[in-house]
Amino acid sequence: MDPLLRSAEAIASAHSVIALTGAGISVESGIPPFRGAGSLWEKIDPMEFAHIGSFLKNPEKVWKGFLVGMKDMLDKARPNDGHMGLVALENLGRLGTIITQNIDGLHQLAGSGDVIEFHGNFAWQRCMDCDGLVPSSGLDLSSLPPRCACGGIYRPDCVFFGEMIPEESLARSRSLASSCDVMIVVGTSAVVQPAAMIPVIAKNSGAFIIEVNPEPTPLSHSISDRFLQGKAGHVLKTLAETVKGLIV
Ligand code: NAD
Repeated sequence: MDPLLRSAEAIASAHSVIALTGAGISVESGIPPFRGAGSLWEKIDPMEFAHIGSFLKNPEKVWKGFLVGMKDMLDKARPNDGHMGLVALENLGRLGTIITQNIDGLHQLAGSGDVIEFHGNFAWQRCMDCDGLVPSSGLDLSSLPPRCACGGIYRPDCVFFGEMIPEESLARSRSLASSCDVMIVVGTSAVVQPAAMIPVIAKNSGAFIIEVNPEPTPLSHSISDRFLQGKAGHVLKTLAETVKGLIV
């Protein structure tokens, strides 16, 4: 049977469907992924610009060399058909929580109701001294690094390399993964831990794994029940339309 139709049938008949998304779902919104052709890491060294040790050592360098450009890119990004396809599935009552590794906030902007952000959200900046939060949109970048009124340096409210995933996000994701019937895994290279183990937990608990990616990943020929090869925008839009055709 056609893999997309088989996937749509699994979604249409499941009790609990969740999604795990990675950088790939936002590529069509103009945000490059971290790995592969055209990726951010082809241009800059993650250990030099995205590790907490580098930030603490020289926040001015990391703000100038990485975070200002990141903010500019995220400010302009809008949800694409991939994000909207997941919203369509939620509106059909066929998708619950989205666990995302992304920091761009595009699932919430698209209208998804329950999003677990594994790595935080760049939309907020946190003062490293007083812990105060401000929206990134209002951040004064005339002098770098940006500072809070208390004098502390602002950092994005995201998880840098070398930092822990918030325990609550991890615990809830593990619990959802072990109780879902279907997991849709979109645009992740599935190599960054601990996010990469979430589909494995789902599979070991009996879930049907649907993977969407233009390129095969370590999951594709191991735990994925169906690999829908293609870009998230087209595949998720078509998948949502096919599910709709099956249930109405
Ligand atoms: P990754 O960069 O390691 O891998 C991206 C994956 O997306 C690849 O497998 C690639 O084949 C696939 N892809 C490329 N174009 C696609 C498309 N149009 N549709 C679907 N898939 C596509 O991403 P990752 O596995 O999420 O891990 C990287 C980490 O970097 C994440 O933990 C995340 O926090 C962070 N990150 C976030 C953003 C963002 O917020 N948008 C962007 C880059 C990196």
